[in-house]
This record gives sequence, structure tokens and C-alpha cells, in this order.
Amino acid sequence: MCTVGGPMADIKMKKLKTKRYKCLDCGNDFKGLGKRVICPSCQSDNVECLD
Ligand SMILES: [Zn+2]
Repeated sequence: MCTVGGPMADIKMKKLKTKRYKCLDCGNDFKGLGKRVICPSCQSDNVECLD
């Protein structure tokens, strides 16, 4: 079993530990990772971690 290739992006998104965030500006609920998380809906960084 030695397969190379495939959709790396998809695997990354699933493997990396994402946290749930909530945007305090628009109330959007989303998953993010890293130190600088911004709301995908309104691009605000005024977000709160739900975990
Ligand atoms: Zn937002």
C-alpha cells in the first residue's frame, strides 16, 4: 500500500485540529485554526472561541 497524490487540501482540513469560533459581529458560527482567525462571512477578527 503505497499511494502518492490525492487531494492534499481536503486531508489537511480534516486532519488539522480546528476549533469552533463564533463571530461577535455577525453571529456566524464557523471552524477555524491558527492564531489569526477571521470570520469567513464578514472578515472580522472579532471572534470568540467556543471550545
Ligand atoms: Zn462575521
